[in-house]
Amino acid sequence: MQSLVRDMALAPQGMEKINWVKEFMPVLNVLSTEFIASRPLAGKKVAVTMHLEAKTAYLALLLQQAGADVAVTGSNPLSTQDDVAAALASQGVKVFAWYDCTAAEYDNFLHKALDTRPDIIVDDGGDLVALLHGERSDLAANILGGSEETTTGVIRLRALEAEGRLKFPMVAVNDTYCKYLFDNRYGTGQSTWDGIMRSTNLTVAGKTVVVAGYGWCGKGVAMRAKGLGANVIITEIDPVKAIEAVFDGFKVLPMQEAARVGDFFVTLTGCIDVIRAEHIKEMKHGAILANAGHFDVEINKADLNSLAVARRRVRRNVEEFCLADGRKIYLLAEGRLVNLAAGDGHPTEIMDLSFALQALSVIHIANNYQNMPAKVYEVPPEVDSRVAALKLKAMGIDIDQLSPEQAAYLSRA
Ligand code: NAD
Ligand code: SAH
Repeated sequence: MQSLVRDMALAPQGMEKINWVKEFMPVLNVLSTEFIASRPLAGKKVAVTMHLEAKTAYLALLLQQAGADVAVTGSNPLSTQDDVAAALASQGVKVFAWYDCTAAEYDNFLHKALDTRPDIIVDDGGDLVALLHGERSDLAANILGGSEETTTGVIRLRALEAEGRLKFPMVAVNDTYCKYLFDNRYGTGQSTWDGIMRSTNLTVAGKTVVVAGYGWCGKGVAMRAKGLGANVIITEIDPVKAIEAVFDGFKVLPMQEAARVGDFFVTLTGCIDVIRAEHIKEMKHGAILANAGHFDVEINKADLNSLAVARRRVRRNVEEFCLADGRKIYLLAEGRLVNLAAGDGHPTEIMDLSFALQALSVIHIANNYQNMPAKVYEVPPEVDSRVAALKLKAMGIDIDQLSPEQAAYLSRA
């Protein structure tokens, strides 16, 4: 099957990006050497739906080195990088993705990836799984299993499992220490500000930043905002998380009050309508709205639109909404994940951990699917520990080892 990419002439530029990230992904490099020798996925077909940028391309190439036939599609219309897509297609991976695709094209790309009749899927947010439980349920019986990258995707999987409808085993990569502690927290923390700063070219220091949601992603974004010199306000619906935010040194307010004082708003809740008409009406002139949660539903775009008397694009990834009284409110990256739509996503060293977990989870499924009924599975703890140990080694950091006496003491009754 022919790849569908924007322009194959961009391949050399995309290869430069892939070669750059390879220098900073030591865990994937170790796995690469291992997989070339052992070919643990020989004869398997893997379909990957992920933000298609350089780190994801390296994951796809790694699965190919492990012997798999790999098909890749994007997981968001704005996060595919056309040069990387072309580079990957030039390496024999089937790629179905381009930047700024329409909803119909996005859907078609997912179908194309499934048309390759994969044995294993790597999903990011549950779009492939949803298709395999709906329109393409005819293909579900072929699927040995899959892995899921993100929080919202795991929530959707657990809902399918609870309804007794999950058709194949899925490994919840997101729920592993080496994923959420680093990717959701430090990855989102840095890359969200990278996306906001690239889009706006504005100062964060001295500004009031409102972070909606104090989960793993929200903690990272709040921590980095503080480091950049902002005054940070948290909004939450969970009393425990709210206290955690207070003890971490942040002010906690309901959105209705925070709306009046914020300069930047960042939503990371996985929930809908976190910022809506009643909040937008209170906002200051020049307020900037960004989302880094899964879907473009956290900021109610219909409300923003209906309050505006005029809207226009003012910079790449910045849209201005002019309200009736002349106040201007800015929305970044159409309310989609700002770190991926307006940046390169999480930093390379972080994705080294997330994608090592992905690659090893795919191999775990290939080796164990016969003993894995259709359920949601944790990544095996020994895989998590191995990824952490490989990373520490690459970082040149030694840690202590338990003596036999210490091990016995810790496991005493
Ligand atoms: P999490 O469950 O750890 O945190 C979400 C937090 O939002 C919780 O504390 C919850 O109480 C709070 N919340 C829910 N509804 C709210 C509301 N209406 N108002 C205020 N707070 C609310 O999840 P997480 O791992 O932090 O992920 C958050 C979202 O970001 C998910 O959609 C996830 O898929 C996505 N995500 C994005 C990236 C990225 O690269 N941008 C990376 C990882 C995860
Ligand atoms: N389908 C969703 C995708 C969820 S994005 C959408 O509509 O956009 C959240 C996930 O993106 C995170 O779990 C994180 O691991 C992943 N991510 C962040 N930076 C990335 C990068 N540079 N490359 C690939 N994936 C990335």
